[in-house]
Amino acid sequence: MKRRDFLKIAATSLSAAVLLPATVRSMALTKSPVETNRLRPPGSVPEEIFAGKCIRCGRCVEVCPYRSIYLLDIRAGIFAGTPLISAEETPCYLCMKCVEVCPTGTLLKIPQNETRMGIAVVNKHICHTWQSLIICRTCFDVCPYKETAITLNQLRPIVLEYSCVGCGICTHACPVTAEDGKKAINIEPIYAWERVQW
Ligand code: SF4
Ligand code: SF4
Ligand code: SF4
Repeated sequence: MKRRDFLKIAATSLSAAVLLPATVRSMALTKSPVETNRLRPPGSVPEEIFAGKCIRCGRCVEVCPYRSIYLLDIRAGIFAGTPLISAEETPCYLCMKCVEVCPTGTLLKIPQNETRMGIAVVNKHICHTWQSLIICRTCFDVCPYKETAITLNQLRPIVLEYSCVGCGICTHACPVTAEDGKKAINIEPIYAWERVQW
């Protein structure tokens, strides 16, 4: 982002923030950016301590060969400068370079198959295969852990939640996009397990 653009966004955000009621303002500035398809990089410490441990150095962004990671801007409040991945746009391709360079242990050095950025969840109401519209198996074909993290049951995709690493490669590849921008297979961040209805 250019400096001029950054300053423009900062000025707009500041004026918008000033116009908001104080309670809404503080909620917006302290709400975690992690949600469906918005994920921390591999090996991340729990979200509750992430912002306190990450020193906003941007080394994970620099080393990522796929440009999967971006840093949040000032609109993210206390989370500004921390890294995030948007799975629909550019998922994580699991090269594990970011965990090697993190100087603070905010991204822990874990093996690829122990990564748990989230869990893929199929929306059976819009998945073409589950709706018997066409036979699509894109998510299965692109999964780096096919048969382990995702399998086919009578040609329909089923996620095996204990092996899914939450990379989002399936989300990125899924051809179905709902009106709200979500796909027919989405990644629920790992800390939100209790919110996922199996
Ligand atoms: S594991 Fe590799 S592809 Fe994934 S976010 Fe880290 S550097 Fe990027
Ligand atoms: S099911 Fe999706 S998120 Fe899970 S490992 Fe496979 S491609 Fe990655
Ligand atoms: S890629 Fe999307 S539409 Fe195709 S089977 Fe997977 S979830 Fe369904």
